Amino acid sequence: MYQVLVVDDDAAVRSMVGEVLRDDGHTVHEAGSGSEALTCLQRGGIDVVVTDLRMANGDGLDLLREVRANYEPVQAVVMTSYGSMDNAIAALKGGAYDFLNKPFESLAVVSETVKRALEVVRMTRERELLVATLTRTNSELEQLNNFFRELAVRDGLTNLFNHRHFQEAVTAEIERSKRYRRDLSMLFIDVDKFKQYNDTHGHPAGDEVLRGIAKILLHEARDSDIVARWGGEEFVVLAPETPGESAGIFGERLRVAVANHPFAGGATQPHGSVTISVGVATLDPGGNRETLIARADAAAYQAKAAGRNTVCIAAARQIRSGLPASVQ
Ligand code: GH3
Ligand code: MG
Ligand code: MG
Repeated sequence: MYQVLVVDDDAAVRSMVGEVLRDDGHTVHEAGSGSEALTCLQRGGIDVVVTDLRMANGDGLDLLREVRANYEPVQAVVMTSYGSMDNAIAALKGGAYDFLNKPFESLAVVSETVKRALEVVRMTRERELLVATLTRTNSELEQLNNFFRELAVRDGLTNLFNHRHFQEAVTAEIERSKRYRRDLSMLFIDVDKFKQYNDTHGHPAGDEVLRGIAKILLHEARDSDIVARWGGEEFVVLAPETPGESAGIFGERLRVAVANHPFAGGATQPHGSVTISVGVATLDPGGNRETLIARADAAAYQAKAAGRNTVCIAAARQIRSGLPASVQ
């Protein structure tokens, strides 16, 4: 049910218009002046205002302005005296939905005009509701998208970046490093004798260790470093703006942090605690993704050969001379 406010200083007009609208099933409020009309509007709930233009106390145009300024989407229908087309045009320009000439040619015109005005109100409200719903749905979709985007680049066990994302990141960082002539280093990290740890303490305990190592790596790394799980018990860190020497120091810091961490059951491991072997490589001028990763991997292998719980730095010199990926 809609609510219509009829405003006229002539009580006879009010009751005539009111009766027509009540017959149409609307709730009708009556006001004898502009200020009375405003009080009624302020109470809320009005859908359409049918107002006289020239009243003894207050101008219908002022009321129209007020409706337009503060009561969207309430519509106003203005009643003008027959033959005063200028007034009708002024009302339309002021934002009236339509005008009715007094005396009315037929009461059906009053009824139809108000019905159409109410239809505009209804449709505007519906559109607003739809826009609000769509906006909400859109932001929910965006959240969901972000969630899935995150999921796609994360490793399920450690929540570090996954292998695929790391590969993409290396490609992008190598390009940046070459364009701006900045250092780029990579660390390959392999947990020492992890099979033995699993065999002794069980796979779930092993998973805990991997999570713990991930935390240590994140804690020690810079925000700009990309820390990822390469797979199994192997991790990688890409360190932009980091020359080989700093990367070596960084690797050593990681090695010490892991070795000193009191992992449950660490005492049964060969070095008396959970340890890692770290291979460090820095991108050289002729290098690419494959050679950088291969050199870091080979350096980690060298660290294993050197007794584990060790950091080894790949020799860029040997790569440049065309020899196979090798380490010092
Ligand atoms: P090394 O010092 O030579 O690296 O010895 P290792 O035992 O660590 O190496 P190896 O490659 O023989 O074994 C890797 C082990 O890592 C075996 C595998 O069960 C364990 N591993 C790989 N991924 C996971 C995992 O997600 N969770 C657990 N708990 N263990 C894993
Ligand atoms: Mg391994
Ligand atoms: Mg291992």
